[in-house]
Amino acid sequence: MDPIALARDLLRCPSVTPAEAGALALIEAVLKGAGFEVHRVTFAEPGTMPVENLYGRVGSSGPHLVFAGHTDVVPPGEQGKWTHPPFAGEITADTLYGRGAVDMKGAIACAIAATLDHLAARGGKPKGSISFLITGDEESIAVNGTVKLLEWVRERGQSFDHCILGEPSNADSIGDTIKVGRRGSLNGTLVITGKQGHVAYPERADNPVRGLVTLMSALMAAPFDQGSAHFAASNLEFTSIDIGNPVVNLIPNEARARFNIRFNDCHSQISLKTLIERLAAGAAGERVRWHIEWEPSNADSFLLEPGMFVDLVAGAVKEVTGRVPKLSTSGGTSDARFIKNYCPVLEFGLAGQTMHQVDERTPVADLTILTAIYRKILDRYFS
Ligand SMILES: [Zn+2]
Repeated sequence: MDPIALARDLLRCPSVTPAEAGALALIEAVLKGAGFEVHRVTFAEPGTMPVENLYGRVGSSGPHLVFAGHTDVVPPGEQGKWTHPPFAGEITADTLYGRGAVDMKGAIACAIAATLDHLAARGGKPKGSISFLITGDEESIAVNGTVKLLEWVRERGQSFDHCILGEPSNADSIGDTIKVGRRGSLNGTLVITGKQGHVAYPERADNPVRGLVTLMSALMAAPFDQGSAHFAASNLEFTSIDIGNPVVNLIPNEARARFNIRFNDCHSQISLKTLIERLAAGAAGERVRWHIEWEPSNADSFLLEPGMFVDLVAGAVKEVTGRVPKLSTSGGTSDARFIKNYCPVLEFGLAGQTMHQVDERTPVADLTILTAIYRKILDRYFS
């Protein structure tokens, strides 16, 4: 099967979250044609838009390898800035253009093409089971997508042995990186409470800005760890300081600062919160009235330990590209944070330089290479 034509057709579906826009219908048709049992499942909950998802499986025995991914894309932004329209799937010279080319319709097309070729070479039947777990809710709030789809599959008594998530894992060119884990992410707001007053009579007021600066300095100064075997050091960044005081002669009552922490496997969310609150308390002493408002997070750090599965995928990458891929845990979060609770998962897809950018694109040759890599993985996994 031709991954390039399939990728182009997927790019022509303007599936900005939460729109399905024909992308899942296309995948459903292709998979059904290859003997997959396909389910289209819509999830919803109060306060969110309903989102369509797809689960397709061929085979009924183990081992069970699942390709995961998302067909939703981020908005194209100003369409006039694109050299080629974002939902036209145009190919010029050696390049396929379109929103979702690398993140991540291209990789889905490659996985489907590789799977169909693999099945065709075996008389249409896998030596185990192959599935596609495709969501339409990854790029936005990710509540009606992979989390619920995984649970839906489990409720039907099915389980996976290994998962490949086709996010654009490669940094510069295909074959350079496999993502074997991700840092966790935690958001909080530091709140300092003072006492409002006239700026000319500071003795009658308590300016919370002083405390805010003191506590922010303390939280920015301390390294939380030195990194670990597979992870860079955890890092806190303040992203906004909010006082919202429109006048010049008033000491404000309250000062707030938002922050995000990307943390490694030295910490759990609980241990990290404890550490940060201890640092803040130490800096505050008796003088500063403070508290931290933590936002709920479903992004813990995780790591796929080296072993058979990583070796198999790395070996396939090397055989096709001649390169030894780096095993990385860098970057933002992905749906792997949910999948890891169900089975070992790694991420390997296209090269990510243009993801979420104007003129998102992939070399056409990369689609051929990625399909060959996925095919090699399938052949080895089911040998
Ligand atoms: Zn993505």
